[in-house]
Amino acid sequence: MRLQFLGANRQVTGSRYLLDAGGLRIVIDCGLFQERRVLERNWEPPPFDPDTIDYLLLTHAHLDHTGLVPRLVHSGLNASIICTEPTARLAEIVMLDSAKIQQEDAKYKQKRHRKEGRRGPRPIVPLYTTEDAQKAVSLLKAVGYGKRIELGDHVAATFYEAGHILGSAIVVLEVSENGEARRIVFSGDLGQWDKPLIGDPTLLEQADYVIMESTYGDRTHRDGPDPQTQLADVINRTAKRGGNVVIPTFAIERAQELIYHIGRLVHKDRIVDLPIFLDSPMAVDVTQVFRDLRGYLDEQARQLFEQGTPPLRYPGLKLVRSVDESKAINTVRGPCIIMSASGMCTAGRIKHHLRANISRPDSTILFVGYQAGGTLGRLILDGRPELRIHGRQYTVRADIDQIHGFSAHGDRDDLLRWLGHFKKPPRQVFLTHGEEDAATTLAKAVKSELEIDTIVPHYKQSVDLE
Ligand code: ZN
Repeated sequence: MRLQFLGANRQVTGSRYLLDAGGLRIVIDCGLFQERRVLERNWEPPPFDPDTIDYLLLTHAHLDHTGLVPRLVHSGLNASIICTEPTARLAEIVMLDSAKIQQEDAKYKQKRHRKEGRRGPRPIVPLYTTEDAQKAVSLLKAVGYGKRIELGDHVAATFYEAGHILGSAIVVLEVSENGEARRIVFSGDLGQWDKPLIGDPTLLEQADYVIMESTYGDRTHRDGPDPQTQLADVINRTAKRGGNVVIPTFAIERAQELIYHIGRLVHKDRIVDLPIFLDSPMAVDVTQVFRDLRGYLDEQARQLFEQGTPPLRYPGLKLVRSVDESKAINTVRGPCIIMSASGMCTAGRIKHHLRANISRPDSTILFVGYQAGGTLGRLILDGRPELRIHGRQYTVRADIDQIHGFSAHGDRDDLLRWLGHFKKPPRQVFLTHGEEDAATTLAKAVKSELEIDTIVPHYKQSVDLE
């Protein structure tokens, strides 16, 4: 058995593993590299012959776990892509959206180069096209949680709830080689316990090898008033001034979580009556998947459906798809809540809403997610007095606010709780999907608290599993 680490090593994007075991070649996740210093890897030929791959397994639909699948299909992958049902639905949305962005980026670059009379070292083509993404979608095969599927005579796979986003899974591979059985557990991204809508991460008891994420391996999520109460405060405060609450949000999970929390506030009369817009076609599509596949939501959310108070549908909430409807939001009189993507304000409709609100002292720009360095979201959060949006200069007069506690990832204590649940310590634990500091700090904690040795692998490192 041989395991090779092909992404998300000492950083958090481009998750990808190659496992040669039980006579099969299996790829686990195939994500887009999104950090500037590793972007070039997206363009390199795949580090294995796609033709030789028997299966591709996906832990969940996030772009950093699925975003290179169409590229791999373009390079010749023709294998079943196995994942849970919600992941299949969400991965379709994510891959098609990404293809569109890749094509638009290429077109924009071509235009710019033509204008500047520049000629790059290679022709400008999209990383992949809608056609590649559609082919990838046609290879998706959905399985239920907890259902053991035979991939071959010597390998079986089971997907368990990971509590990260809808459909997210921990993948357990059971391999028999030379009469010996081994369990290899890929954590995927692990969520927090007791989050709304999504079930808790599954605690497992047996593993020989564990590959675990470490995104927040060096932190604990901040305690404080619960996010719902903080949200109520911001909304009521802003509405009293007559302004709007503008919330940049990620289309998957965060948007639905916000809708859920605001819905609870509406039902409990904890906020004033006001229109609530989700203005992002992608987030609207994802919300529809949540509604369609409510059987995958956690018990509390399913109960709300049964009680006739569906958590993602309530008075005042409007899901906005068309450009005209989106523009019409700016003509709404009186306070309203506007949730829109992208989550870091780097593109999309959120920029229009920022233009309309950022110079209004009565409005609030509310951040509920991570803002990477250099993004417009980060500049706003850092308190820049003046900003450029769509080529125009704006003075920041709106209230800038932030609510912590919305993370889809478990923190250090959650990760240790999950890893500490195995009855017998695994033979080896590998920590991936974390910045160098987060992964190595967690490695020390695992050693001191659980007495397990860990490896923080490097990109392309491969290990023999015995
Ligand atoms: Zn994720």
